[in-house]
Amino acid sequence: MAFIEVENLTRHFGASVAALKSVSFSVEKGDWIAVMGPSGSGKSTLMNILGGLDSPSDGSVRVGGEEIGRLSATDLARFRAEKIGFVFQQFHLVPYLTALENVMLAQYFHSLAEESEASEALGRVGLGDRIHHLPSQLSGGEQQRVCVARALINQPNLILADEPTGNLDEVNEALVMSLFTELHRAGHTIVMVTHDPEIGRMAERRIELHHGKLSEVSVFPAYEEELIENLLKAVWHQQEDTGTEVSPSSALPEFAQNRATFLLMVQEELVHIDQDDMISFTPQGRRRAGNVIRRHRLSERLFYEMFAIPEDLLDANACKVEHSLSAEVTEKLCIFLKHPQTCPHGSPIPPGVCCPKR
Ligand code: ADP
Ligand code: MG
Repeated sequence: MAFIEVENLTRHFGASVAALKSVSFSVEKGDWIAVMGPSGSGKSTLMNILGGLDSPSDGSVRVGGEEIGRLSATDLARFRAEKIGFVFQQFHLVPYLTALENVMLAQYFHSLAEESEASEALGRVGLGDRIHHLPSQLSGGEQQRVCVARALINQPNLILADEPTGNLDEVNEALVMSLFTELHRAGHTIVMVTHDPEIGRMAERRIELHHGKLSEVSVFPAYEEELIENLLKAVWHQQEDTGTEVSPSSALPEFAQNRATFLLMVQEELVHIDQDDMISFTPQGRRRAGNVIRRHRLSERLFYEMFAIPEDLLDANACKVEHSLSAEVTEKLCIFLKHPQTCPHGSPIPPGVCCPKR
């Protein structure tokens, strides 16, 4: 089961307004999803329901296994306090409380207010020296960073951000977005409403709403290429480990989390998935996978032999460069290293056109 599962979600306001019409999608833990669409398309309504501030008229919404529509008012309050961190466009800070007190207030609803934790959270968003300032003494960007600190204080499973940079200038926008990037790296699940395509591209996937209907779910090209290469690598590793060319998708941990991307890879004719969910490479997919593996293992060799990088750090470092090596540089690297046949861990390096016939 995905972390967020929305099925046929409908929300009516009175008889005439349908803010959401039979919307379905799912979000995996750790994903960053951008919710886009014109004004009035239902974005905020969706966020409010995901965060337990509003309830569905019809359909089901599950977050971390909890069915939002079935929770009592008390359980909803607990759900919000324990599981959700909200960041809104309007900062919603209490004007007569300091930054520190505003953060502690969020904590107070969760458990005992702990001043040191609150001030540490403010430190994390770069406001360690502003904790005793009132909102009116802070810039817009600083106020929004207080909101991010407040959203994080209870270690929420899910961060919901509704146009978090809508009221910020460019500099502050960049500051706040870099915070979200860090949160994403740290493994938080983020659902963020934005109408800025630049910000939308920072997410892994985009959901678009039009008149309350879901019109598009997509993966972004730049991210997609890297993701596809990583998934091709995963399939390659599995084939290497099992010595088989066809294996069940259930044996691949990455499969469940990247179903949509795997379907895209089928469309792109990189892999084949049969009706029993057995995955195999197409010739083209195998070639591309072999190339990534080759770049990865040649990089490992280079780091190991030339820079004496310890063995346990090779993989992580090679992962960073393998996506960016051109064919030409890869060939030069292979020649320079005298066409090595294995990586430092002993796994075979797929030969390139430059390699002597083995
Ligand atoms: P967005 O955030 O995409 O701009 P909203 O989710 O705020 O859109 O609103 C979607 C539609 O639902 C709009 O037509 C809006 O007027 C209506 N709506 C939202 N909240 C309410 C409400 N509490 N009562 C009545 N209508 C509402
Ligand atoms: Mg809105």
